[in-house]
Amino acid sequence: MSVSESDAIHRVNHEIKHRRLDVLRVTELTPRMRRITLGGPQLQGFTSLGSDDHVKLLFACSPEEQTALENLDFSRDGVRPTMREYTPRRIDLAAGELDIDFVLHGDGPASTWAAQAEVGQVLNIAGPRSSMVVPDIFDSYVLIGDETAIPAIARRLEELPATRKVLAVIEIEDAKEQQPLKSLAELEVVWVQRHQQNLLEVVKGLTLPEGQLYAWVALEKALTRATKRLLIDEKGVKEDQIKAAAYWRLDPHDDE
Ligand SMILES: Cc1cc2nc3c(=O)[nH]c(=O)nc-3n(C[C@H](O)[C@H](O)[C@H](O)COP(=O)(O)OP(=O)(O)OC[C@H]3O[C@@H](n4cnc5c(N)ncnc54)[C@H](O)[C@@H]3O)c2cc1C
Repeated sequence: MSVSESDAIHRVNHEIKHRRLDVLRVTELTPRMRRITLGGPQLQGFTSLGSDDHVKLLFACSPEEQTALENLDFSRDGVRPTMREYTPRRIDLAAGELDIDFVLHGDGPASTWAAQAEVGQVLNIAGPRSSMVVPDIFDSYVLIGDETAIPAIARRLEELPATRKVLAVIEIEDAKEQQPLKSLAELEVVWVQRHQQNLLEVVKGLTLPEGQLYAWVALEKALTRATKRLLIDEKGVKEDQIKAAAYWRLDPHDDE
């Protein structure tokens, strides 16, 4: 593999924009996942170049936050709305649509909002602030995540060409949470039901695809760390070939 400046992994920064979007459609993907399709005039110019980009969803959890949300100005200090990070799952500017897929995990402002969302409601979003662009410079990919990572994994799979091998390992609540995943690439998907199998044990037992490999991990914070360690210590993946991100925290006060 030869990597020139232009086809290396790189970050692209964007001007942060605040957008007030309308709920156009609500689709039940699985018992635990809801797709909210957003649109409206403020979607114009929305850009997301990386499959694991995120936008901040803005919520008002107090009267002060409501005021902050109405007069949003990120350049000033002061009260901020409550923010949560979500993946732009599908962007179709011609149709004026942005899909965001929410895990309904039962608690928290984002999940609670998604569970009650109806056509005609409004959602405030900001970003993406930047995109990490991973050009298709690898022979094979290992994508490991849970339900929160399915939007980013699905985006990546849809981008990859037929010449690539992908192993996706996805931890889900139960078999009803399996979603159809489309890719031209040679794809093996291993669904891990979290109450029946241990994700780390499953990954330990898998043979990774051959060739120059890129590994991407997005799970609960502690599991993300443990999975990254396992890939390095037991699977021979080099640290600079892995991107690992905590997508949520079991302990909500752990802001480290
Ligand atoms: C870059 C990035 C992209 C992300 N993309 C998506 C996405 O596209 N779709 C998506 O659904 N999530 C996504 N997430 C995860 C999402 O931001 C978190 O799950 C977030 O904590 C949800 O906020 P909340 O307000 O619902 O709950 P919080 O207020 O953050 O948490 C409330 C309680 O719920 C628990 N909790 C939070 N998330 C989960 C979960 N998934 N399962 C079980 N318990 C949970 C917490 O431990 C806490 O006890 C992404 C995260 C990152 C960092």
